[in-house]
Amino acid sequence: MKLTFALHVLLVIMVIARPALWPWALAGLVLNHLLITAGGLWPRGTLLGPNVTRLAAGGPGEGCVAITIDDGPVPDVTPAVLDILDRFGAKATFFCIGDRVLACPDLAREIVSRGHTIENHSLHHFYRFSILGPWLMAREVQGGQDAIAAVVGRRPTCFRAPAGFRNPFLEPILAHLGLQLVSWTRRGFDTVEKDPDVVRQRLLRNLAAGDILLLHDGRAARTAGGAPVIVDVLPGLLEAIGKAGLRTTSLGA
Ligand SMILES: [Zn+2]
Repeated sequence: MKLTFALHVLLVIMVIARPALWPWALAGLVLNHLLITAGGLWPRGTLLGPNVTRLAAGGPGEGCVAITIDDGPVPDVTPAVLDILDRFGAKATFFCIGDRVLACPDLAREIVSRGHTIENHSLHHFYRFSILGPWLMAREVQGGQDAIAAVVGRRPTCFRAPAGFRNPFLEPILAHLGLQLVSWTRRGFDTVEKDPDVVRQRLLRNLAAGDILLLHDGRAARTAGGAPVIVDVLPGLLEAIGKAGLRTTSLGA
């Protein structure tokens, strides 16, 4: 943001001093905005600010994999997910949508009582999140914090942008609220891919300690048999993580 502001000032001074250079100033401006847009559309990128894509080496999650589950809680999917996690003694992080937490408070509290953490995935999960202005964007982040804190009694420390897309207004909002932007190491595209084997293979490719894996309980795609893909994917995924000698951990715990 500061660099962009400085560039705008510089270009204005340049055009005032040498009016004939305006096409270059315009080109610089367009290039700057294209770069910002590209940075916002790159979920794992760091151009627009800090972005966690792996667990920190030497941190509390050493030797662990973080399974993150987005867009819930959902009454017909999340309970089955919780049962599978329990069966394998696994811990996960649920990036919940604030208004879903308000709609299913008992289920949100159950996620926490079974040893997992709930982090902030915005209040409404607007797909236009990345084009919101600073005021509306702040309301989405703050609203997610307030909804989750009101229901489970703990304020999230991590935020994940809807679809991973953002703009330069997000970072100052997160810094103000003490939130860390978290994306992922790998995702299985389980909201669109109906074949659980394909999703599992994508998530397990080059599996290593520190990986942050992305799955969804909300908006889950359904297998040919009609089951939510995550419910089919999780047992084999957790088994493979165990066989690789890795444990699971919750973010923000
Ligand atoms: Zn999402």
